[in-house]
Amino acid sequence: MIRFVLIQEYSNNKNYKTDDSELKGRVPMESRALYYSEIERINRKELEELQLRKLRATLQILYEKNPYFGRKLRQAQVKPSDINKLEDIAKIPFTTKDDLRINYPIGLLNVGIEKVVRFHVSSGTTGDPTVVAYTESDVDKWSELNARCLNMMGVKRGDIIQIAYGYGLFTGGLGIHYGAERLGAAIVPSSAGNTKRQIKLMKDMHATVLACTPSYALYLAEAAIQEGLNPKEDLSLRVGVFGAEPWSESVRKRLINQLCPEPYDIYGLSELCGPGVAAECPLKNGLHVWADHFIPEVIDPKTGEVLGPGEEGELVFTTIDKEAMPLLRYRTRDVSCLDIEPCACGRTHPRISRIKGRDDDMLKIRGVNVFPSQIEYVLERMEELGDQYQIILTKSGPLDDLKVKVEVKSSAVSDKPWDMVELKKKVESEIYSVLNLHVEVDLVEPGSLPRSEGKAKRVVDLRRST
Ligand SMILES: [Zn+2]
Repeated sequence: MIRFVLIQEYSNNKNYKTDDSELKGRVPMESRALYYSEIERINRKELEELQLRKLRATLQILYEKNPYFGRKLRQAQVKPSDINKLEDIAKIPFTTKDDLRINYPIGLLNVGIEKVVRFHVSSGTTGDPTVVAYTESDVDKWSELNARCLNMMGVKRGDIIQIAYGYGLFTGGLGIHYGAERLGAAIVPSSAGNTKRQIKLMKDMHATVLACTPSYALYLAEAAIQEGLNPKEDLSLRVGVFGAEPWSESVRKRLINQLCPEPYDIYGLSELCGPGVAAECPLKNGLHVWADHFIPEVIDPKTGEVLGPGEEGELVFTTIDKEAMPLLRYRTRDVSCLDIEPCACGRTHPRISRIKGRDDDMLKIRGVNVFPSQIEYVLERMEELGDQYQIILTKSGPLDDLKVKVEVKSSAVSDKPWDMVELKKKVESEIYSVLNLHVEVDLVEPGSLPRSEGKAKRVVDLRRST
């Protein structure tokens, strides 16, 4: 027991009760620092003073130099000098995804292009995607935040971390990558997909940490079992860094039973930086938001009113340490609540409860983000196909799956004695080229799909009934 100083420190706190099962998978204290940075346990009053100072500085810059935010603030009659205490943040108007779209691609850029070292782009459900820019300092701070998250989860130098989040325009892969590199862990940058290879690499490289979406983690466990492996015996995984989609305690239990003893939740969104905005500490009682970089609020999504601790609503973040694209009171559409009570881990940064869901139409299929509009985009371009289609969501084991039903044009039926199988393959391969995901396509006769008055019901969700 003496070896586990980390646990002892927690146990010394009256609020934290431990039992033997909680020791499993913990990292002995001597091999890593408890805190990556001392700021993790900054005195709450100092933290709030720091936030106010940084908020005022961010506001000053946007007010004076950013045409779009400057105009918005003037219209709302808010001056930087009106912000005298943290609660005054409620005077500042919200920013939404629409503000980003109106300014597509880089209208909200707050520095000269010569200072930008990176763009990331998130898929748009409708219309234009969202572009986020980073300066060198932004990337540096993003790396630090991810290093804090990983260290908090017990990842350390000597660990082998397989990063199965997508690398590229999506922030997941690179964000975790920079954090792990900063920490000195050994990275296997496997990126998303290619399940057989993921399992082989995890096994052969003796990966101790897996970073991917929780649904993909479950799928990997299932696929490993199908290959005759016992993931808990044959793989060396200790820690899971699971995020980019909401997940529940029952999924955590399944991950513990099937894959690794310590699955942690990590949260972020590309508009703020990507992963690393918040993460769970070993007590797994909410996710600490790095409040020296972001001011979190929870609001009533209907009225915009700020809600108190423990009240559930929409998460809103203000970035107070970003150069390239700071955002004021950005509405995430994620549902959560705030916990400002001190945590027994010693960190003073407030916690958010695990995300309940997102008011969004994005689907997550086998670890890949899928937007119905992407499928529509493919189908619309194929002249053999009619206008009517359905995206049917089902459950395939622990994972969500989807199938597309689409009507063939009657002219294509009567004029060309085409090979149904060939056309089906063609549609599937077109969808694959856009989504990077194999989706089964059912071709159906013209007029056979249900029509709806008003808004077409394109997505049929059979997940609960299957
Ligand atoms: Zn904590």
